Amino acid sequence: MDSPLGKILFITLGCAKNEVDTDRMRALLLAAGFAEADGVDDADAAIVNTCSFLASATEESVEATLELAEGRAEGVRSCPIIMCGCVPSRYGDDLPEQLPEVAAFVKADDEDGIVGVVADVLGISVAAPVLDAGAMLRTVQGASAFVKISEGCDRFCAFCAIPYIRGRYHSRPADEIVAEVSALMEQGVREVILIGQDTGIWGSDFEGDQTLAKLLVRVAEAVRPYSGWVRVLYLQPEGMTDELIAAIRDTPEVLPYIDIPIQHCSERVLKAMGRSGDPEQLHALFARLRDEIPGMVLRTTGMAGFPGETDEEADELYDFIEAEEFDYTSVFAYSQEEGTRAAAMPDQVDEDVKLERTQRLIDLVEELGFSATAKHVGERVKVIIDGVEETDDGVELIGHTWFQAPDCDGAVHIQSGEAAVGDIVTVDLVDSFCYEMVGTIVEEA
Ligand code: SF4
Repeated sequence: MDSPLGKILFITLGCAKNEVDTDRMRALLLAAGFAEADGVDDADAAIVNTCSFLASATEESVEATLELAEGRAEGVRSCPIIMCGCVPSRYGDDLPEQLPEVAAFVKADDEDGIVGVVADVLGISVAAPVLDAGAMLRTVQGASAFVKISEGCDRFCAFCAIPYIRGRYHSRPADEIVAEVSALMEQGVREVILIGQDTGIWGSDFEGDQTLAKLLVRVAEAVRPYSGWVRVLYLQPEGMTDELIAAIRDTPEVLPYIDIPIQHCSERVLKAMGRSGDPEQLHALFARLRDEIPGMVLRTTGMAGFPGETDEEADELYDFIEAEEFDYTSVFAYSQEEGTRAAAMPDQVDEDVKLERTQRLIDLVEELGFSATAKHVGERVKVIIDGVEETDDGVELIGHTWFQAPDCDGAVHIQSGEAAVGDIVTVDLVDSFCYEMVGTIVEEA
């Protein structure tokens, strides 16, 4: 679509939270009268929404920006670049000098002002979009959508730069979240995935008794008329209250998929990380969850090579993950992040030791994860269709089921049958490979 105001190219790096932020900026710009560009040659301005969680992510963000600048220099169109998100939030003051290729920098907290920034960069005058009260700005087209329920983090884990980049924890009001979920369902979404840095403590910064458990019940009510699903990610161990466990167990729309990043299990390492717990407490938590929510799947995150981690402590984490048989585990090598407490700690682990420990954990979690996936063969499940792909063997439907978080885990591949994106179909799972499932649609009576 041609636009009198110009076309904007959107490039998003990093996690699902950044996808949500880009989506909001896109919606604001479209509401103001801009259009979306297909590529750099087509664009009047480019927005690069960056990630700075790790040094490697920062490098990737800067490289993507410089590549775009080179492409722009070779092209015929003038396409100023606007860098948004975590890199400007973390390195704001130093950036104009270091990246003269960039026309403007927008910190994560200032992204709602994107229309004014683009207008300034293009040298045009644009009225801010007039929105109905409570209008939810999303442009999601698929069958699943991430919904942010909070921003920032108060935990200040010693290795993590997020609290410095994204600020202190603040919850989004429940009414706003529920209105956004309803609007997404109305436009064809069938699963909402609630995200934040620390979802379990949602509402703790509000007056009154507002909890994630109560929010889940309200969100479930909003998706119920559409037979939709609700998934919640990034629950810290301390956030798993009895009330929350009961809400997940007793609310049919809320999937029994629990994501608790533990990072480590050793009491000494957790303490050094600024976290809490020990192997006994963590085993007890997972045993309680398995007991209260039979058949649920568990996802976690483990970190190898935190400063001072001994061989014995690395083994402790390995043994813990092996004993818990998590369905999904993301493994990270510790990264020495500028400005964090851990970066200044003595006893940084040698890079080759860190990588060896990381690879050993990756081998383990793949073995556990592939085997956990294979155990679902033979089950009959509901699948949300996410896409239709042309393959050498014909058309394949791609979807996901309750134990697969979109963009995180595997998918269900269906080689025959007809369905459209957003349909919820019944599927027999007949085979698996790695984290992927193969299924056939069941003809229902
Ligand atoms: S809870 Fe997560 S986001 Fe918050 S400081 Fe720790 S690792 Fe970072």
